[in-house]
Order: sequence, then structure tokens, then C-alpha cells
Amino acid sequence: MSAATSRTQYGKQVTESINQTRVRYVILFAAAIATPFVYPPTWPLVWLALASYALRMFGVEGIYHRYFSHRAFKCSRPVQFILAVIASQCGQHGPLWWASVHRHHHQNVETPDDPISPRQHGLFHSHVGWVWCERYKDTDLDVVPDFARYPEILWVNKHYTLLMLSGAFFIWLLAQAGAFGPTVSGGAALMWGFFLPTALGVQTVSMVNSVGHFRFMPGGYRRYDTDDDSVNRPLLALLTFGGGWHNNHHRYGASARAGFAWYEIDVTFYILKLMAALGIISDLRERLPDDVREEGGLSPLPAGDKVRS
Ligand SMILES: [Zn+2]
Ligand SMILES: [Zn+2]
Repeated sequence: MSAATSRTQYGKQVTESINQTRVRYVILFAAAIATPFVYPPTWPLVWLALASYALRMFGVEGIYHRYFSHRAFKCSRPVQFILAVIASQCGQHGPLWWASVHRHHHQNVETPDDPISPRQHGLFHSHVGWVWCERYKDTDLDVVPDFARYPEILWVNKHYTLLMLSGAFFIWLLAQAGAFGPTVSGGAALMWGFFLPTALGVQTVSMVNSVGHFRFMPGGYRRYDTDDDSVNRPLLALLTFGGGWHNNHHRYGASARAGFAWYEIDVTFYILKLMAALGIISDLRERLPDDVREEGGLSPLPAGDKVRS
């Protein structure tokens, strides 16, 4: 029996209907837009929003993208579960759904089977339209067999909405207990600490799919002449904790780093380095192959500088 036929088939996991997805998005964005009008900004609320945005952005870029989609580092099974729960707060479905759609994207980039190609489907579809599409509603587990074999990760993937709402409830509880200071009510904390940063994170990550694959818009550059339309966008990279170095990423996606040059700020990579130094994760794939460095016009590493590639 060949390896292909002996591989376990996992099929699809149904998590919610497409109408549930649509209603969730409408509520999320309506609440986010209303936030500064219902509760005018104060410094404690702005700091809360920034901290919450940072957690959600690392969740999607560091955990859903670099770990579950590209396996850029290793961790123990309990840590893997905790990371999945943290990342489920990002409001962009569960880890296996995100990774399966993203692997489809890399495998079929800029072809009709690429869910998020502006070249094929237009900017609006690549930004948000595909999320509302019946075709990508369920999780294709056969694209992520390496993680679909963990029942606890399947559970997180199925119940991500429950986990996300539990996180929102926790923020409300903290505010009620006075954790954010006497001026921050539970309602204000919910709006500034949950709805607004979650909606902003969905938008900035969607921009990697749309303008990160749209080379005709100014404000970016292509370090590599890849066959796809991926672009490095510095501003977007700041907002997405490194996700905006998308041309680098399409050239060498297995890396734990997306910013290849020292000046390409990659917050996710810095956090992963810290987590590796603390022993929380291991085997960080940080070394770029020499041909990738040379092709990108980057200086070669000193001889003997051996870290895992
Ligand atoms: Zn891409
Ligand atoms: Zn990727």
C-alpha cells in the first residue's frame, strides 16, 4: 500500500453555517464602529484596546500562521493546546480552518483555486468576500492531517466561538473587578477590549490577502521576483506583526521570520525568539538558506553561524 493511500483521511469538520459567520461579522463590525461613540476614548481604554489587539494579532500571525499553517517551530502538546486557545480569540475561525485555507492559498497561489487571489477574484473578494462564501465554510481536515489527529485541537477548531466569547466575558469580569482602574466599566471594557481590537485585527489580516497580493498599489516593494503578486508592505507589516512582509514569506514560507532584513520589523519573530529563549517553544526555524539570502540581496551569514533552517 502506498504512503498516499495509507494516510488517514479526516474529511471535513463542520463548525457553523455560513449565515452564522455573516451574522457574527456584522455584529462585530457594527459594535466596533459604535465603540468610540458609546464610550468616548480615555487612556485606560486605549491601552486596553492596544494590549488586546496585540494578543489577537500574535495569535493569528504567530500561532495560526507560523505554527499551524507552516510549522515554523515545535512545542509540547499542552503548550500547543494553550496556544490554540489563545489564538482562537482572534475572531478568524479556528486554527485548523485558518491553516487549511492558508495552505490551499500557498499550494494554488494566483490560480482559480486560490481562495484569496486578487488577480483571480478581485480585491473585494480577496479581502472579505471569500469568508462569506459557502465553498470555504467547513474545515478541510485532509489539508492539515498533522494537526487533525489531536482531538483537543479538533475541539478548539469546532468551538472557537465559545472560546472567543469566554475571553470576552473574562475581560468584562476583570473590568467589574476593577482591574482596568475605577473609570473603566464592564461595558466599556467589552467594547474597547473585545469588539474594537478584534474587528481591527480581522481587517488588517484581510489586507495581507488583498493589498498584500496587489502589486499595483504604491507603498510596498518586491524583494523577490516570485510568480505570484505578493508585496512587502512596511506599514502593513507593523500592523500585522510581520504578516505584511508577504513577498518574503511567499519566497520562503517555512521560516519563523517574515522580515528577512534587519530593518524589516517583525514583532511576531521577536516574540517567538523570546518564547524559545524561555523554553516555551523549540526548534525555531530562523535561518534562511544561503540561496534565499543571496537572491534577496541580503549579506551572507558568517561561516559557522549554524541555527536550524
Ligand atoms: Zn499570500
Ligand atoms: Zn503563509
